[in-house]
Amino acid sequence: MTPAGSRKGTGGLSRGAGRRGKRSRSRQLIADRAYNNVRNDTFALPVWKLGYTTIYDLHPNRRGMHPGPEGTHTFWIDGVLYADSLPEGLYDLDPIAIDVSKDDRERVERRHQARQAYAYIPHDARHPDESRSYRGPAAQPGRLRCPNNPKSMRAPQSVPTTSCTRGEECGCGHTITLYDSDYPDMRMPFQHGTLACEMSYHRRVGIESVFADLKQNRLHVHRGYFRGFGIGRYTVLVGFTFAALTCSSCTTGSASVCVSIRGAGSSVSRNRCAQSVGVVSQRDRAKSPR
Ligand SMILES: [Zn+2]
Repeated sequence: MTPAGSRKGTGGLSRGAGRRGKRSRSRQLIADRAYNNVRNDTFALPVWKLGYTTIYDLHPNRRGMHPGPEGTHTFWIDGVLYADSLPEGLYDLDPIAIDVSKDDRERVERRHQARQAYAYIPHDARHPDESRSYRGPAAQPGRLRCPNNPKSMRAPQSVPTTSCTRGEECGCGHTITLYDSDYPDMRMPFQHGTLACEMSYHRRVGIESVFADLKQNRLHVHRGYFRGFGIGRYTVLVGFTFAALTCSSCTTGSASVCVSIRGAGSSVSRNRCAQSVGVVSQRDRAKSPR
């Protein structure tokens, strides 16, 4: 926990560092749009050094095109490096939206997959010197047929063929070394806006559901719920509150947890505690099969 008003990067980083210290198997860190505006040296770079892969929901203002490493004939779109042979029609794609028909979602996904064929993908693991190799779309095994990369032209006709001119340099067949400093606030294991990205990011929705249960659906934890001083005391009380939330579906368990919260030093009123847990108990009782 960090005090309200403190920097987001500091709070998020301390959470990530705590998990790593406990030998957690967590390898991915899902960050909401608020972290789009956090400086790289206070969040993204330290998180990567801890061994996490970051997954973001990019704000429209953060998205866009940027030139790739000099002399490589590449460019960035939304944190993914592409060869310059990418057709212009695939430059600006809308991310998959929830509130559209299934057919529209599939259509948008097909366009993203068409763009994916031109992307640079990781060639090996991240090195201790913060570098990582990325393989171009026509480098073997190729995902494109490019006239400047003869081996790639042996692929079947079903593989997309670029419009590159033989003899003119292009960005299809390189292997490029990228560093942590290359757009760490946007790089993800998949293209932003794809189905894979949506499915991964929406794991965070499950966490938000827990918070909603904590604030409104089951308990009523708001400003003033705890009355005391010191981040240590707050942390302990939040722990008890989460325990109460976990037990709130059990009528017998709810009462004992209320006693524990008040006994730990909180001035939570008896009425509020009874109300927050009791209402849930009645509702759960109504939902439970008879
Ligand atoms: Zn090419």
